[in-house]
Amino acid sequence: MTLKIENHQLVGDLVSHRSTPNHGGIMAPGYLIFHYTAGRSVAGSVQSLCTRKPRGNASAHVVLGRDGEIVQLAPFNVVTWHAGVSQWAGLVGLNSHSIGIEMDNAGLLKKVGNQYQAWFAKAYPEDEVTFAAHRNGGPVSPWHAYTEAQIERAIELAELLVEHYDLQDVLGHEDIAPGRKIDPGPAFPLAAVRSRVIGREQDEPARYVVTASSLNIRKGPDASFERVAAALKNGTEVLLLEARDRWSLVEVIADPEIEGWVSNAYITARSGRGLATPRFTVAGPASTDPTFASSKLKKGGKGKKARKHGL
Ligand SMILES: [Zn+2]
Repeated sequence: MTLKIENHQLVGDLVSHRSTPNHGGIMAPGYLIFHYTAGRSVAGSVQSLCTRKPRGNASAHVVLGRDGEIVQLAPFNVVTWHAGVSQWAGLVGLNSHSIGIEMDNAGLLKKVGNQYQAWFAKAYPEDEVTFAAHRNGGPVSPWHAYTEAQIERAIELAELLVEHYDLQDVLGHEDIAPGRKIDPGPAFPLAAVRSRVIGREQDEPARYVVTASSLNIRKGPDASFERVAAALKNGTEVLLLEARDRWSLVEVIADPEIEGWVSNAYITARSGRGLATPRFTVAGPASTDPTFASSKLKKGGKGKKARKHGL
């Protein structure tokens, strides 16, 4: 099954288009957000998301059905209204920064007699039910299961969107509005989908190279810590294991026994994937870590970039 994007619209098998009046202006998406519809069918959800109501208008870019069918409701570079009050990585109001995928799924079910009922009173057989606790809290509960075809299409669509728009992350509504929302819920394998879609980059620690003529490698992220080995020579290749704003934990590729902290000022990314802050690219004095590093340093500072690299 082929799927591609032309002029912000999906083209491919099992793809159709409707146009929702519930949208905002142009945006550059940075995230992908998964939802469930809590509805009874694709047709019903599409109708609802394409209807202008007196209040509480909602929409999304795509509705994904249980047989893998996709209905696109708005171009991917246009704001839709799927996230509501939400925040992530310092952003507030994810509608303006994300693509929303609504998956046809009844959501949280309730046991009534020996049946499992949705909020709209439709009953689902036990083989369409997943029992799990939500990772945001609460007891083990029955949830409407997603289908294999739907999960496979979700992965295909997510891979395409992440690649095409260079998205930073794949999240659930439950991540960006945790007190308020529980979708797509524990029946959807979000962590597996996320690592499959953006994990390749995260699995591999970034390669860095020493730019100073020699560079001290220390037990901790500060020049007051003792050295763990002889100073690293210019050109030594290291793997970045953990990045802080001024120091990084690295492992020497040629000698993995050597692991320690080095000043960010004297290492640079091998493949162009640098540290988040350009101020570290200055060449600096030609030997060891500088004495200014022993003064008070800001700790932490893992930014968006560090996150993307799985740090
Ligand atoms: Zn949602």
